[in-house]
Amino acid sequence: MQNSRSAQLFKQAQAVIPGGVNSPVRAFRSVGSEPLFIKTASGCNITDEDGNSFIDYVGSWGPMILGHCHPQVIAAVKTAMERGCSFGAPTELEVTLAEMVIKAVPSVEMVRMVSSGTEATMSAIRLARGYTNRDKILKFSGCYHGHSDALLVKAGSGAATFGVPDSPGVPTDFAKHTLTARFNDLDSVRKLVSENKDQIACIIVEPIAGNMGTVPPREGFLEGLRQLCTNEGIVLIFDEVMSGFRVAYGGAQEVYGVTPDMTTLGKIIGGGLPVGAFGGKKEIMSLLSPSGGVYQAGTLSGNPLAMTAGIETLKLLQRPGFYQELEEKSAYVAGGIAKAAKDAGFPIYSTRVGSMFCAFFTKGEVQDWDSAAQCDTTAFAKYFRLMLEEGVYLAPSQFETAFVSIAHSQDDLDRTIAAAAKSFKAL
Ligand code: PMP
Repeated sequence: MQNSRSAQLFKQAQAVIPGGVNSPVRAFRSVGSEPLFIKTASGCNITDEDGNSFIDYVGSWGPMILGHCHPQVIAAVKTAMERGCSFGAPTELEVTLAEMVIKAVPSVEMVRMVSSGTEATMSAIRLARGYTNRDKILKFSGCYHGHSDALLVKAGSGAATFGVPDSPGVPTDFAKHTLTARFNDLDSVRKLVSENKDQIACIIVEPIAGNMGTVPPREGFLEGLRQLCTNEGIVLIFDEVMSGFRVAYGGAQEVYGVTPDMTTLGKIIGGGLPVGAFGGKKEIMSLLSPSGGVYQAGTLSGNPLAMTAGIETLKLLQRPGFYQELEEKSAYVAGGIAKAAKDAGFPIYSTRVGSMFCAFFTKGEVQDWDSAAQCDTTAFAKYFRLMLEEGVYLAPSQFETAFVSIAHSQDDLDRTIAAAAKSFKAL
C-alpha cells in the first residue's frame, strides 16, 4: 500500500500537534503503525491522501450510522450554513431536536445540548451531585465517559491502550471521589454502596460497554443497578453517547427495558458534527442554570449546523425497518468474521449488540475489563494491519467497538469477511 503522503503529513503534524493527532487513539500506536490521513469519505468508504480506499468500520467512532455524506444531511447542513453558523441565541432547531430526543429516549423528559460527550457526562455528574448534595460517584473499570478529571479513572480504550489508566495532571484530590466497580458484577457495586452509605451521588455506566471492545450487560446487571439506585437515592446515569440511537432508536434503555434517571448522548445525535447532550427527569434537569443553581454553559451549545445534522439523521433513522436492516447486516458481518476465525483455527471471542461488535483475541469469555485485558493485543495489531492491506479500516485498538452503517452493502460485507478469512489464515 502506497502511503507516502500520509507519512509526510504525519511527520509535519508531529512538529505542530502533540503526537501528530488531535485525539490519541488516532495515532495507531497500539497497532505499531502510523495513521492514514483521510481526504474524503462517502457511504461506508473512506479514502486517504494517497488515494487508498477502505471499507470503514470506525464511522468516526460511532456517529456515521447512515454512512458518510448522506445527501439529505449534507443538503440540510448547507442550507443551515447559509443562514448563519452560530448565533449564541436560541433557535427553533434546538427545540426540534430536544423534542425528538425526548420522544425517542425513555428516561429523557428535558435535555440540554453541549458540544461533546465529555461535556455531557461531566455536566450530568455535576447535576447529579447538585441534586443529591453528595460528592462521590461510582463508575466501572473499562468504561469511558470522556476525559474530564473525575472520570479519567480506569477509563478503558484510549487510556488503557496507552497503559495510563490514571492520567498525570489529574490531582488525586479530584479523583478521590470516584469509586470504581467491576462491570457486570453487582456484588462489587453493592459493596461500594454499603461502604459509602448516603455519600454516592450517581452511578454512571455505559449500558453496553463499548470502550473495552463491546461488552454487553449480563442479564440482571442493569436491572440490579436500577434497583440499588432507587433504594439508595443514587442517580443512575446511562452514558449512551455511543449506544444512543445506535442499538435502537431509544438506545440501550429501550433494548433492555431499564430506565435510568439521566442519560448522556453524543455522536449520532450530531450526525458527524460536534454534539453532546444530557437529559433526564424534569425534577433533576430543572436544577440546571438558569432555572436552577447548577451552572453549565457553552458558546457553541445547540449550534445550528450540529442541530440540523442531528435532526436530519434522526429523521432518517425513523424510516420503517431501518434498525432491522442494520441488525441483519451487522449479524452477517460479525458472524462471518467469527466463522472465518474459527475456520482458520484462530481463537476469538465474538460479541455484538445491534451494529456494535467486537472480535476479542482471546479464548475466554469477556465480561469486564479484567477479562478484556487478557486479549492478545500483539495478534490483534497484526490482524489490524492485515485487514488494512485488504482494504478494511478497523479501529486501531483491540479495546474498541466496530460500527456497521446502513450504507454497508452486501458486497462490502462479503469483502470484509473474505479479508478476515485471509487475515486469520495469515496470523
Ligand atoms: N462516553 C462514551 C460512552 C464514549 O464512547 C465517548 C467517546 N468515545 C464519550 C463519552 C466522550 O465523548 P467525546 O469524545 O465526544 O467527548
